[in-house]
Amino acid sequence: MNALLETARHSLTAGAQHLRLSQADLDRLIAPERSLEIGFELQLDGAPTQVKAWRVQHNLALGPGKGGVRYSPEVSQAEVTGLATIMTLKNALADLPFGGAKGGVRVDVGLLDEEGREAVAQALASGFGWFIGPDTDILGPDVGTGPDDMGAFTSAWQKVTGSDSRAVATGQPMDAGGIELRTGATAAGCADAIAVAREHSSLDTGARVAIQGFGALGRTLARLLSEAGHPIVAVSDSSGGIHDADGLDVAAVIEAKEEAGSVIEAKGKQIGSIEVLTCDADIVVPAALQSVIDIDLADQIQAALVVEGSNAPSTVEGIGRMKARGLTVVPDMAANAGGVIGSYHEWRTNRGEPDDDPKSDMRQRMMDLNRAMWDRAKSDDVDLRTAAAALALERTLDR
Ligand code: NAD
Repeated sequence: MNALLETARHSLTAGAQHLRLSQADLDRLIAPERSLEIGFELQLDGAPTQVKAWRVQHNLALGPGKGGVRYSPEVSQAEVTGLATIMTLKNALADLPFGGAKGGVRVDVGLLDEEGREAVAQALASGFGWFIGPDTDILGPDVGTGPDDMGAFTSAWQKVTGSDSRAVATGQPMDAGGIELRTGATAAGCADAIAVAREHSSLDTGARVAIQGFGALGRTLARLLSEAGHPIVAVSDSSGGIHDADGLDVAAVIEAKEEAGSVIEAKGKQIGSIEVLTCDADIVVPAALQSVIDIDLADQIQAALVVEGSNAPSTVEGIGRMKARGLTVVPDMAANAGGVIGSYHEWRTNRGEPDDDPKSDMRQRMMDLNRAMWDRAKSDDVDLRTAAAALALERTLDR
């Protein structure tokens, strides 16, 4: 089975078994409610190429589906189903009026110029049509997509359906329905998740942090944690990593990333991207890749706390090994929920709904969901993943 789907189902099953749900209920929860595959032709590298895309609405019990769209040459229906499953748990855990959904387009973004991206947006709008919509399933950016793709998709979708709503997608360009809060929301939420972890452990703001990935999430998280006092001892991107036991100069690393294209251009000892997760640190945050923490890597992690910034960064075997070694893992559904909470506020704004103080609401939801998870883990003597999934499933099943 696809490793990400296996991890997503492992989380859901852990929660369901803890709640002593029947096998029939578990089977119903695992199966996606609705799934659509479309195919279309694109000109890539000057040649006509068949491209596949999927939208999976995993569970719509709590409201319209909500989840991003990923453009990647490796994405598959199984991966999209796994990501949609994680969204079901995440949205319920954050107490949002959303079910879980996700989309994927199997295409190499390196081959897409502006015209190519417009063509994909057009094909998705025509192919998905009213399968999605502001009241049924709302898109957003994910790996390989950004505000321009959401803007192009929304314009195309409005033409296809005749709707004038921009609430069919979040993560919109700032001049076309985007809100400031959404930018950086995932990183701010992840910093909140770490703040709650500090309340429940012996870690304080002196805890040394290593972050794999220096994109939208990793870069802003490094800045926020550094501002909170945490030494950031290692970071990496796709070119490699850098390490400084006394703490990197985060502002200089951000500058190097922005100006020279990679963190490795900043001052620090050069290390491999994987070593960032196994170096001498107190907290490690995978914020780049999925399925990276396998059983071997789990054996080498030195930090006591792993915060899953990316979706499904751990394989099922990796999760088992981290548990056996007594590591504490804040699962993805709790660590990176800030993004979808920010999206919820954008969606409300674009529907013309009143939205008082979304910034405080976002912070409160992140603190509440993380505290509820830690409290439940303690009271029921289970790990954080099981506690989070159990809380999410109770809401999904209205218990
Ligand atoms: P991004 O594309 O902005 O950044 C990804 C980063 O990972 C880049 O710095 C890239 O260089 C780095 N990277 C790629 N391959 C690497 C490798 N082999 N080793 C080390 N680094 C590598 O993506 P993002 O938005 O920061 O998202 C990161 C993860 O967080 C994804 O799994 C995404 O699904 C998840 N996530 C993001 C958001 C969000 O709002 N940005 C929300 C929820 C979940």
